[in-house]
Amino acid sequence: MNSFSELGISNAYVKALKELNIIKPSEIQIAVIPKLLETKTDLIGLAQTGTGKTAAFGLPILHTIDPAKPVVQGLIIAPTRELVQQIKKQLFKFTKYLDVKIFAEGVYGGEQIGKQVSALKRPTHIVVATPGRLLDLIEREAVNIGNVKTLVLDEADEMLSMGFKEELNKILQYNKTKRNTWLFSATMPDEIKNIIQTYMSADAIRIQVNKNSMVNENISHHFVKTKIADKTNVIARILKKRKNERGVIFCRTKAGTQNLVKQLQDKGFTVGALEGDMKQKERDKVMRAFKNEKLQVLVSTDVSARGIDVNNLAFVLHHQLPDHINYYTHRSGRTARGGKKGQSIALIIPGEMQKVIDTQKALGIVFREIVM
Ligand code: ADP
Ligand code: MG
Repeated sequence: MNSFSELGISNAYVKALKELNIIKPSEIQIAVIPKLLETKTDLIGLAQTGTGKTAAFGLPILHTIDPAKPVVQGLIIAPTRELVQQIKKQLFKFTKYLDVKIFAEGVYGGEQIGKQVSALKRPTHIVVATPGRLLDLIEREAVNIGNVKTLVLDEADEMLSMGFKEELNKILQYNKTKRNTWLFSATMPDEIKNIIQTYMSADAIRIQVNKNSMVNENISHHFVKTKIADKTNVIARILKKRKNERGVIFCRTKAGTQNLVKQLQDKGFTVGALEGDMKQKERDKVMRAFKNEKLQVLVSTDVSARGIDVNNLAFVLHHQLPDHINYYTHRSGRTARGGKKGQSIALIIPGEMQKVIDTQKALGIVFREIVM
């Protein structure tokens, strides 16, 4: 299978994909798309970060929509606001050449709910949402998910760890139609079995590509030995060396994120912060500046570890390795997207080598030391 047409995607989409330079389907797309187009089925799709999972569920869900019916037929739930915006935008781009438009709306916390309520009064076929805001809108009767035929849970395991389980349960009570549920992620911790048992049919199709490692093989892994007091200087040196490259630095805390941004700005770097305590307006502003290449570096907590897709990020820096191994996968997965290569670099202080070794073992990867 060498083309999206052969997978069953209709011409108007193929034309739009071509404009986005999406020409050759990725492994997960080849495995998933025909199944979702041909059969009404529940499906679990597992594939490494940056391998095109959005299109793998986005194109099939668009194919299920009857544009003549002005009701919500598809629902995509994702853990963060930025990810909701990104998925909605991606769907919008896919539909550019459709004769009869399909409308997708994105709803998430932090933005005035009134604005979203009025947006939802227009014909809407697909809703992309974070769980909390969606539940709020359902309870206000601003959105009716009673006719939803397809539900996608993107990064479902993250929604669980963010404590959205109750919201998800409540949301799904409002949908009594016989629906199909599609679940996508790059990691599948044990807790997810619960979601699968609760929300999905026992004969859901499971598709997992590259079982050897859930880490994208286009990422190379590195560590730099340093001390806490030297971290900012080490980062500055790395950024200077990579003046023409862009990347994300992950910090563990919101305060640490803001701190590092100030220090790096004082040193003359164009960096911006993204963390959960910021107002949505500021979050949007920083993401826009970063996507428009006005910032070299985004300094972020794990809010942006999931799903965020920014073109051509050459590196990810871990100010400290994350506590949870899955987060290493998602953080480093912000680089090496869409078939490109990237580096993941962790700052290691004395006593942390064991963590590097554990990460290697758990993920089946090899770290190499960079000596500064
Ligand atoms: P995932 O959800 O698997 O992490 P995304 O769906 O965000 O990955 O896709 C990562 C990037 O790759 C996006 O910029 C997307 O436009 C691009 N992309 C998706 N499918 C293809 C393809 N078949 N060929 C080239 N690029 C692709
Ligand atoms: Mg994704």
